[in-house]
Amino acid sequence: MRRLTFYFTIVLFVFSTTVNAQSQYAKNITIESVKAHIDTLASESMKGRDTGSEGMEMAVQYISNIFNELELKSPFQDNYFQPFNLYKYKNGVSTIQNPSYLYFPSVYSGSKDVNDSIIIKPVFAGFGSPKDFENLDTKNKIITFIADDVKSALECINQNLKPNKPNYFIVALPSGKINFKDSEIQQLNSFIKLYVFDYYAQESMMDSIELQKFRNTYSVFTDLRINSDEDIRVFFITQNWLTALFGKDAKDLIRISKENQKSNKNLLNRITGFEIQLQIDFSPRLDTITTKNVVGYIEGSELKNEYVIVGAHYDHVGVNSDSTINYGADDNASGTGAVLELAKQFMQAKRDGVKFKRSILFVTFAAEEKGLFGSTVFNNNQPTQLGKIHLLINMDMIGRNNSNKEKYNNTIFVTGWKGGNKYKKIARQENRSNTNLRVDFTPGLKKRFTWKYSSDHYPFATKNIPVLVFFTGLHPDYHTPRDTPDKINYDKYHRIVKLIFETTWEVVNK
Ligand SMILES: [Zn+2]
Repeated sequence: MRRLTFYFTIVLFVFSTTVNAQSQYAKNITIESVKAHIDTLASESMKGRDTGSEGMEMAVQYISNIFNELELKSPFQDNYFQPFNLYKYKNGVSTIQNPSYLYFPSVYSGSKDVNDSIIIKPVFAGFGSPKDFENLDTKNKIITFIADDVKSALECINQNLKPNKPNYFIVALPSGKINFKDSEIQQLNSFIKLYVFDYYAQESMMDSIELQKFRNTYSVFTDLRINSDEDIRVFFITQNWLTALFGKDAKDLIRISKENQKSNKNLLNRITGFEIQLQIDFSPRLDTITTKNVVGYIEGSELKNEYVIVGAHYDHVGVNSDSTINYGADDNASGTGAVLELAKQFMQAKRDGVKFKRSILFVTFAAEEKGLFGSTVFNNNQPTQLGKIHLLINMDMIGRNNSNKEKYNNTIFVTGWKGGNKYKKIARQENRSNTNLRVDFTPGLKKRFTWKYSSDHYPFATKNIPVLVFFTGLHPDYHTPRDTPDKINYDKYHRIVKLIFETTWEVVNK
C-alpha cells in the first residue's frame, strides 16, 4: 500500500514538473516574438517568396540563420538544405499556319512534350452550343468556335472533350477579350492544371504585350511531371483571324451561327474550312530552378528513432503581372513563424537540460504553391537515419479568421488524417488548460475533399503517415496583395502558436 502511494507520488511529481516546464517555455511565446517572423517573411523585400525568386532565397537565409543560431542539428551533411530541381518550360513555338496567312497569334495549351506538325481541317462549331454540334462532323478536325470569354470557352471545351482521343480546339475571342483577366487565367490554369501548359504569341502580333504578361505570370513548374495521355490542345485567336480559316469574316460567321440556333438543319455544315497546318513545337526546352526545403532537428532520448515533424511551407505566389506583391503574411509566413518559434522554445528547453522522448524535426517546405513539391520531395527522400515519422504537424494559414467573420475570431481548426485524428484530443486538452481558443474539429474548408489535397500534409498521408493540421480558414484576402502582416490577428495567432507548442510537447513525450 505504501509502496503504491509512493509510486503515485513520483508519477505526480514527474507529471507536474513536466507541465510546469512546458508552460514555462510556452510563456516565452509572445505577440512580439511571433510578429517579428511575419514582419520579416512578409516584408516588401521578400516580394511574396515566389519559388525560384530572390525573395524566396532571402526567406531561406532568414530561416537557416535562425536554425544556425539555435544550433539545431542537421539531417544532411553540411547544412540545413534539401535541394531539388523544378523545371520551367521555355516557350515553345506553336503556330497555326495556312498558305495565305503564315502565322496566327495564339495561346497554346496542351498536354504532351511533342514536336510535331499536323495537317488538319478546321470545322466551324458556331457558338459551341449543343445545338451547334448536332449532326456536325468533327472527326479528325480541329473544332473552332466563337466565344465571349475564356470562362465560357473552357466550359464548352469541357463538355466536348472525348476521352482517349486527340482534342483540338480553336477558340475565337473578340479582339479585346484576348487580354486575359486574372480570373480567366486562373480558370484556364485550373482547367489544364494536369497538363503541360504553354502558350505562344508571335512577336509584333496583336495583344502581344498582354500575352507577354501572361507568359511571365503563369508558367508551369513540373518536376514530378503528371503524366497524362490526354492530348488536349487549345489555341486562342482573335475573331479577325477566322477569315483565314473559313474564308468568311467574323460578322458573317456570327450571323450564320445565330440563324443556326433557330434552324432545324445544321447550317454550319455548309461552311468549309481551309486545310491548315498545326505546328506544335513543344520539345522539352527547360529552365532548371533549384530550390530547397530547410530542415533541422533536435534528437530525442528514449525513442530517438521516432520523430515528430513540425512543418509549414515558406514559399508563396510572388508578384502579380501588375507588379503588386502578394505578401503571404497568413499564407504562410504564419505557419513558418510558428516553426521557428517552436524550434526556439524547444532548443531553449533542451539547453536547460530538458530531455525529449522523441526527436523533433523542423521543416519549412518549398514550392507548396506550385503543387506541394517540397513536401513530395521530402517524402520521397526522407532522411532515413532519423527513423520513422510518428506524426506530421502541418500549419498552413494560422493567423487570421475564416471568411474574416467575427464569429471565427477565436477559432482554430484542427484536423487529423491517417491516424492523426487521435491527437486532436491532445490539442483540445492543452487548449482547455492554457490557451482559451475555440478548437473546431472540422477542416475549416467547405469540402473535406479539398482539405485533403490542400497543403503539405497530403504527400505524407498518401504514405499512411499520421497528420495533424492546424488552420484558421480561408478569407477573401487569400492569394491577393491584401494578405499583409497588419491583417494578422496577433492576439489569437500567438495563442495558436502556444497551443501547437504545448500539443507538440505532449505528442513528443507521450
Ligand atoms: Zn499555403
